[in-house]
Amino acid sequence: MSKEGLIIVYTGGGKGKTTAALGIVLRAVGYGKKICMIQFIKGSWHYGEMYSSKRLEPEFEMVAVGKGFVGIIDDKSSKQEHEMVAKEALKISLEKIQSGKYDVIILDEVNYAIKLGLVKTEDVLGLIEAKPAKLDLVLTGNHARDEIINMADLVTEMREIKHPFKRGIKAKKGIDF
Ligand code: ATP
Ligand code: MG
Repeated sequence: MSKEGLIIVYTGGGKGKTTAALGIVLRAVGYGKKICMIQFIKGSWHYGEMYSSKRLEPEFEMVAVGKGFVGIIDDKSSKQEHEMVAKEALKISLEKIQSGKYDVIILDEVNYAIKLGLVKTEDVLGLIEAKPAKLDLVLTGNHARDEIINMADLVTEMREIKHPFKRGIKAKKGIDF
């Protein structure tokens, strides 16, 4: 593993982790860099970025993990669905990382997926180790493990000072999703 490409972690309990990663996307697309974002937690897909990613094609690619699962899961337990999505996300991430086709890869909510027990820390450390020298790898999600923080070059903890949710204000289109 070379230090040429950076390992970036956005963690913490405040808002802005995925937003920060999308900020990198916007910036990197400007230089014609190739970026891929893989979502580890199911349910985050009906977000503005799902639609804007189409406008940033072909440089930006968002992977719709779990698309093929519809109809496969008869047990509607969301835990099982989350596990399948996280496992599939791991597999896709390894393929994308090893492909050498990307400048930046974002593993969105991967830290939280570990926290929920959907993926193992070792599996994610394995992804980091598989990283080509020049690849910038971004890992988002609260509760980042120390093992991952230790491997990272850049770690930012989002700390909540205020959040409108606490005043009963619902998630806002274009701001929260
Ligand atoms: P965002 O995607 O807005 O950058 P995030 O990635 O930092 O948020 P997540 O844990 O992925 O945070 O949360 C996703 C959703 O939960 C978003 O709608 C976000 O606004 C909301 N959220 C984030 N932090 C908080 C918080 N501290 N209290 C309440 N809601 C939050
Ligand atoms: Mg997020």
